[in-house]
Amino acid sequence: MTVTSKANQIEKEQQEESLNLFLSTQSIIKEAVERLGYPEEMYELLKEPLRLLQVRIPVRMDDGSTKIFTGYRAQHNDAVGPTKGGIRFHPEVDEEEVKALSMWMSLKCGIVDLPYGGGKGGIICDPRKMSFYELERLSRGYVRAISQIVGPTKDIPAPDVYTNPQIMAWMMDEYSRIQEFDSPGFITGKPLVLGGSQGRETATAKGVTICIEEAAKAKGIAIKGARVIVQGFGNAGSYLAKFMKEAGANVIGISDANGALYNPDGLDIDYLLERRDSFGTVTNLFKDVLTNKEILEKECDILVPAAISNQITAQNAHRIQAKIVVEAANGPTTLEATKILTERGVLLVPDVLASAGGVTVSYFEWVQNNQGYYWTEEEVEDKLRLKIVDSFQKVLETAIQRKVDMRLAAYMVGMRKMAEASRFRGWV
Ligand code: GLU
Repeated sequence: MTVTSKANQIEKEQQEESLNLFLSTQSIIKEAVERLGYPEEMYELLKEPLRLLQVRIPVRMDDGSTKIFTGYRAQHNDAVGPTKGGIRFHPEVDEEEVKALSMWMSLKCGIVDLPYGGGKGGIICDPRKMSFYELERLSRGYVRAISQIVGPTKDIPAPDVYTNPQIMAWMMDEYSRIQEFDSPGFITGKPLVLGGSQGRETATAKGVTICIEEAAKAKGIAIKGARVIVQGFGNAGSYLAKFMKEAGANVIGISDANGALYNPDGLDIDYLLERRDSFGTVTNLFKDVLTNKEILEKECDILVPAAISNQITAQNAHRIQAKIVVEAANGPTTLEATKILTERGVLLVPDVLASAGGVTVSYFEWVQNNQGYYWTEEEVEDKLRLKIVDSFQKVLETAIQRKVDMRLAAYMVGMRKMAEASRFRGWV
C-alpha cells in the first residue's frame, strides 16, 4: 500500500468512527426521549445540533508560509441557556465528532443541572508539531472566525483535548479586543490571573474521584486498599491516579498512548507523575510494558478508562474483571459492551456523568467572572462535591426505578431539562 492510500484509509476509518459515535449518541437520545414520554418531534429537535459553523483559518507559519486550517463550532441546544463546551485541537477532529461531542455537553450540563446547553468546537491541526507563536495565531484566528456566534451569554468555550489555559488566555484576549471591553466570561479554563477558577485544572479528575467514591459505596467496596487501574495518563488520568493514591487506594495499573505499566503490589505514582511529559507520556521510560488492551483485562476492583473511545467492546467486555467501571474518557465503552457489563453486574458510571466535573467548575468560573468575586479552592471543591454526589444519586435512582442501565439513565436525566425548556418555549 502506498503512503497516500494508507493515509486515505486511516482518514476513512476515523470518519467512520466519528459517524458511529454520532449515530450511537442519537440512538440513546431517541430511547431516552421516548422513555421520558415526549413525542417524536422532541427527538427530531434534539437529534442534531441547532447550529454548526465551519470556518477556514489562514495562519502565517514561522517559516513565512501560510497554512489554512479548518475549524468547527457546534451548538446543540440553547433552550436552557447559552451553550457551553470545549475546543479541541487535534488532527482527527471532524464534523460528526464535533456534533456528537456538543450533544454530550448538553447531556453533561443536564445531568449536573447547569443553566446551559451543550456546545463544542474543534480545529483540525496537530499542536504537537506547531510552535508557540503558530498556536497563538491559530487560536486568535479561530476566535475571529467564530466571534459572531459566541459570547458570555451565547456560547462559552473551554479547554478540551490538547488545549490549555494559555490557549484560553489568547482566545479571551482576542475576543475582548474585538468587543472592546474586558470579557473574562467569554471562555473558561483561563489562568488564575485572568479570572480562572481555583480547582479548574483538577476538576475533571475530582469529579471522577467523587463518582468512584459514590460507586464504591453503592457496591460496598472500601476505597482504602481498593485496587485501581487507570487507562490513560493525560490531565484526567494522571490527577485521578494521584487522588486515588491520596484516598488510600492501591493504583496497580496505568497506561499512556505507548503502553501500560502494571504491578499487582502497586505502582509508585509520585515517581510516574514526576517523570510524565506534558502530553502525558511516561511508559517509554520502562522496559516491561503491557498493551493498552491487556491492562483493561487485569484483575482489579475499579477500572477507569481515561484515554480514548472504543476500548471496552463486545470482544473484551466478558474478560473485564473490575466490579466498577468509571468512564473518565469520552465513549470508552460501546453500547454492546455496556449491556454485557451491566448483565454481569458490573456498575458502570457513564462518561457523561463521570467526566462532568470539568464543565461544572467551568460554570463556577463563569459565575465568578459574572459576579466579579472569587471563591477559595475549598469553596469550589465543596460546591463541586454537592453537584456530583447529587447527580450520581439521581442517575442511580433512575436506573433502579426505570430498570435501565446507568448510561440510558444518565441520558434520561441529561435530556429531561432541555426537553422541558424546549416545550415551555413552544419549540415542540
Ligand atoms: N471540554 C470539557 C468537557 O468536555 C470541559 C468543557 C467546559 O469546561 O465547558 O467536558
